[in-house]
Amino acid sequence: NKPKKKRNILKLDETVINRIAAGEVIQRPANALKELMENSLDAGSTNIQITVKDGGLKLLQIQDNGSGINKDDLDIICERFTTSKLKEFNDLYSINTFGFRGEALASISHVARVTITTKTEDATCAYKAYYIDGKLKAPRPGMSPEPRPCAGNKGTQITAEDLFYNVATRRKALKSPSEEYNRILDVVTRYAIHFSGISFSCKKQGSNTTDIYTSSSSNHVDNIRQIYGLQISRELIKIEYTADNYDYKASGYITNANYNTKKMIFLLFINHRAVECSPLKKAIINLYSSYLPKGTHPFIYLSLEINPNNVDVNVHPTKREVNFLNEEFIIDHICEQMQNYLANANASRTFFTQS
Ligand code: ADP
Ligand code: MG
Repeated sequence: NKPKKKRNILKLDETVINRIAAGEVIQRPANALKELMENSLDAGSTNIQITVKDGGLKLLQIQDNGSGINKDDLDIICERFTTSKLKEFNDLYSINTFGFRGEALASISHVARVTITTKTEDATCAYKAYYIDGKLKAPRPGMSPEPRPCAGNKGTQITAEDLFYNVATRRKALKSPSEEYNRILDVVTRYAIHFSGISFSCKKQGSNTTDIYTSSSSNHVDNIRQIYGLQISRELIKIEYTADNYDYKASGYITNANYNTKKMIFLLFINHRAVECSPLKKAIINLYSSYLPKGTHPFIYLSLEINPNNVDVNVHPTKREVNFLNEEFIIDHICEQMQNYLANANASRTFFTQS
């Protein structure tokens, strides 16, 4: 007869594990929305409409016109590590979708009440399902949790309500709804400008006016004008080059010396993902300091395509800051190129005043 063990260490309950993991992936409304937008983009949508209440804490809703989801997939879609995008580890090296970890919807459903309404091209009707903690949930006690047929157009609508209703500490740690809304506008802005050819809109629930709107027929400059206004759009220099020796391509728009703003606007994409790169930002600030009045900054929209072998693809949802191979060389090279573009733009200007 073995003596009974007196353990201090116990295995956590499954829902507790999932909720902790979810809190690491989804830290605030803006990154829940980023995950949802990336899913819409992965589904081939050309129209993405976002509606927000209380900075996304009360309601975060995204409607797309993408592929939709098969009814038969709706039972497991919010479970952890369920994905249609990655089948084996080696697929990671050729992946061209944003998602592949199958964690986003699961995480959101562990910290919010999720509703999915979706219709595929060949389905005769749409289906609607509710989720809590990764699983289908009946809309009311006594009802079946199975997805219900309903009317709807091709595409998917996902609603996340009462974000962090079950994680009081996280809810308290968040900023005011208006601050959270600003962060939402920031991510939508980035994607709306970069993905020209796709229409984006973002508004507060109950409002008749959109805070962000881009049309599917507009180009990058149109999008920049729509969102940032005429002034910036008049002072843009187009960047486009291939650097074979460093295995990357660059494109985008940067403002010339006629434009400046207190806070730098820096929209950076690496292989179409919105990312941050502090050393690059610093280098660009340094470059512009000889063109702009002290304490002022440019607008930069820069899209880099780097050989996927040189960038870490195993990006964690919260990992915004990227590293890539030959980073210092590439940053130096980007700044040299920008310097050339700026110098040429200034030389071709008859009236150039630095106020
Ligand atoms: P991942 O994007 O890493 O695959 P997610 O949890 O974000 O994981 O999504 C799980 C799956 O749900 C996706 O692989 C996709 O098949 C499906 N899905 C999610 N959102 C959409 C959408 N808006 N349109 C179509 N399918 C979707
Ligand atoms: Mg995803």
